Amino acid sequence: MASATSCLSIYCNPLVRNNPRYDIAIIGCGPVGALAANFLGKEGLNVLIIEREANPYPLPRAAHLDHEMVRLFQSLGLHDTILKDMRDTEGHLHVGADHGVLRYMGTSGKPRPFGWSNDYFFYQRELEAHLRDALDRFDNVTLKLGTELNDIRNLTDHVALDVTSNGSQQTLQARYVIACDGARSVVRKRLGIALDDLNFEEPWLVVDAEVDGPVSFPPIANLPDDCNIQQLSVMMCDPNRPATVVPGRGNHRRWELMLLPGEDDTRMMQPDKVAELLHPWLKDVPHNIVRAATYRFHGLVATQWQQDRIFLAGDAAHQTPPFFGQGMCHGFRDIANLSWKLTMVLRGLASPALLTTYQPERDPHVRAVISAAVSAGRYICMLDKEQAANRDISIREKVKRNELPTTAADLIPPITQGVIAAQTPSAGARFIQPRVSAAGETRLLDDMTQSSWRLIGSKQVLTNSAKTLLSELSKELDIQFYNTAQWQCTALAEWLAKTGTDAVLLRPDHYVFGTCTGDASALLADLAGQLFASDAIKLIDCRLPLFMACSEFDPPRFQQEWLGLMQKRFSATQQLDQGMLVAGHNHYSIAGHIGTGDTRLADEMVAFINDCTRG
Ligand SMILES: Cc1cc2nc3c(=O)[nH]c(=O)nc-3n(C[C@H](O)[C@H](O)[C@H](O)COP(=O)(O)OP(=O)(O)OC[C@H]3O[C@@H](n4cnc5c(N)ncnc54)[C@H](O)[C@@H]3O)c2cc1C
Repeated sequence: MASATSCLSIYCNPLVRNNPRYDIAIIGCGPVGALAANFLGKEGLNVLIIEREANPYPLPRAAHLDHEMVRLFQSLGLHDTILKDMRDTEGHLHVGADHGVLRYMGTSGKPRPFGWSNDYFFYQRELEAHLRDALDRFDNVTLKLGTELNDIRNLTDHVALDVTSNGSQQTLQARYVIACDGARSVVRKRLGIALDDLNFEEPWLVVDAEVDGPVSFPPIANLPDDCNIQQLSVMMCDPNRPATVVPGRGNHRRWELMLLPGEDDTRMMQPDKVAELLHPWLKDVPHNIVRAATYRFHGLVATQWQQDRIFLAGDAAHQTPPFFGQGMCHGFRDIANLSWKLTMVLRGLASPALLTTYQPERDPHVRAVISAAVSAGRYICMLDKEQAANRDISIREKVKRNELPTTAADLIPPITQGVIAAQTPSAGARFIQPRVSAAGETRLLDDMTQSSWRLIGSKQVLTNSAKTLLSELSKELDIQFYNTAQWQCTALAEWLAKTGTDAVLLRPDHYVFGTCTGDASALLADLAGQLFASDAIKLIDCRLPLFMACSEFDPPRFQQEWLGLMQKRFSATQQLDQGMLVAGHNHYSIAGHIGTGDTRLADEMVAFINDCTRG
């Protein structure tokens, strides 16, 4: 009743009348919000994105991203445009207190399993501008600049957003909201969501400069022959002043310099102090300081990423120390994860229960990478000389024993729970993107396979039942089978051989749903069960308005035929059986897919029930 009243009051509010109800509203057009609008716009959804400022944040922030982000740009057809303003680099180097190499995570000359270089450097403002400009492609995306969110409310079937735009107030409506409103997120605060503090907070000075010449490094012992230090992100773990030196795109360079105890933030940002700090690196090389600012590097993760119809993503959900340059990358992964799920739910293909897999999939993933960055931060920020010397010994021993990742790509763990066939080998892993040749043409895997869900492997997995399931699934999902025998690609064959499987089923975000050996039916049935059966589970709790009750008919026949029908359509799973049929004495309550707006199935159900009861 309370919700009905609030809906009515919203309807009567003159600020709301005449405003359309958007499928999705995105709060904040930083990089994460802009990427979200591109993904959801591409799906044809009716998207609103609001941004308080008129232009992208002008000063440099993120400088590094990895291959997975370029693959997302590729999914959007934006990689060619964006790559023009990026440069790839040759990896990361950590240097010890004694100025000897601690750890070299180089990528030069190494294979590129994911199709792109491991590390790219760029200028955040340019990247944001590309993502924003790309929204012009979509008539179904409305970008409202100079529009600030003041308040937000989850209501029964939509979210109400109070905004101020050019001095006037409005209440807008959307079925779902993604809050990409940054570290100080108004939405997170309004929803009362706390942040878990991962106990890392260190003050750093970040200096960006345009530099016309090479940077001077102190002599570094044991530098590998194949490495060009000018092309690396170099972490000087020197207790005199821990520092990172990063090559940006063009002639852009970044220094991140730890503030020492007692140093004053404001004083350290003054031009004369910045010049003094950079002098050993730049000597007489001509340069121009773009900006110098102090930051508190910290690790924070929201305790709740979804509240009803509202989701947190990007810095609103988590913040990471930038030691592996992953802060924005986490936000992009959030969007890749959430956008296909929201699309399915908004199209009525899956129940909103699917959305509850967002946090369980993303939160442990983010925490694992933040933990790696925090532990790197702890050893990088060591100021005690004796401790730093011991650290150097210990890290070098770990490197010898192969206990530490050898490229930054190895830092990213698989998804361990959520929409994956967890019992199958390599479920949840990021899938490789090799070059594939067919009919005289060689292309990257994602360009060769256009569908969003992909079953890739040997033809033998397509048994008759797997074919039937695939064809049923393809009525709801953009899914296709790709026969590796028709391609030349040793990397795919090697991947399958290494996992001991015959086929892999990929999700739209390029993570592995699962793998199979022989018949793919069970894998496809598992997918169907996970995507569609959740309605049944949900409806058990709230079946009153949605169920149909019928009694006094032939229960065994009903059960057999009903389950047959459901099996054919969705492949029966334990949850489906339990959820769809709640047995009483000669009485069955049936809860179905009606809640998602699948009227075709509802009609099938009604016809079938009528048929049974007549019999
Ligand atoms: C020094 C530094 C170095 C970094 N280096 C890296 C790196 O190398 N690699 C990496 O991946 N990440 C890095 N990061 C992190 C990266 O910059 C952030 O993770 C990224 O900007 C987060 O994007 P976002 O879209 O979530 O939030 P933001 O970029 O903060 O965007 C939020 C947007 O929401 C808007 N907004 C806020 N409130 C409202 C409101 N009420 N109404 C309307 N609009 C609103 C804001 O104006 C803003 O445009 C670095 C960060 C810093 C500070």
